Amino acid sequence: MTSSSDPNVAFYGFTPVPRDPDILFANHPTATGKNPKQDLFVADDFPLPGSPLAREVAAFAKRELDENTFNHSRRVYVYGVALTKTHFPNWSYDLETYYIACLLHDIGTAEKFLATTKLSFEFKGAIVARDLILSLGGVEDQADSVCDAIIRHQDIFVTGGNITMIGQILQLSTILDNVGLRADLIHPKLIETTTKMFPRNGWSEHFAGVIEKELALKPWCHSTTFETPGWTEGVRSNFATDVRGNDVMRPFE
Ligand code: ZN
Repeated sequence: MTSSSDPNVAFYGFTPVPRDPDILFANHPTATGKNPKQDLFVADDFPLPGSPLAREVAAFAKRELDENTFNHSRRVYVYGVALTKTHFPNWSYDLETYYIACLLHDIGTAEKFLATTKLSFEFKGAIVARDLILSLGGVEDQADSVCDAIIRHQDIFVTGGNITMIGQILQLSTILDNVGLRADLIHPKLIETTTKMFPRNGWSEHFAGVIEKELALKPWCHSTTFETPGWTEGVRSNFATDVRGNDVMRPFE
């Protein structure tokens, strides 16, 4: 079956879109200029999917992640869906699959997984996520879509080629929550209501600490793509510094 005749491609969010946001947003009708379109959405407009699978994955994420990361994972869902509704109204993907990708994208940073493997946290998390979805009866295409998105969710320096639609949404929304990038594509009221529903509670400092912890544990890890070549412990992390410098989200910390 070619990708164009397989309905699972579009349904599970595999539709290829450019990886580089500069290309994705070039000459974009609503996302460019000084005042991009901001639909007046609030967090309540994006209820979390409540299927049995979504609920079981959420219970797993709540159990394994600290509260800060669990809240971040749910904010990322809201921001991603809102952003696509406003700026990519024709994008079609299964909300449950995107939600599961959000819930599990940082599962590799959980205490149970971060220091118990030499794998970079995204790769370990992607494997954990894929195994979990399959064990809960999810279909393989759904498990693979989530797995692919999690593996690549911090691959933000790649300028060539494509990424899955769900992978792109996850990249845009995680970087929005973590460093405030392109936060002007969503309405301030959405940030206000989402951070009220899923509080940051000092997320910037918390996540910067997680980055530093992984760099120290695994100085070969994928997160070092943000750092100078040959990074060693003791050198200030560019990535952690960017996360701590998230001025957009500072009022909501
Ligand atoms: Zn994250």
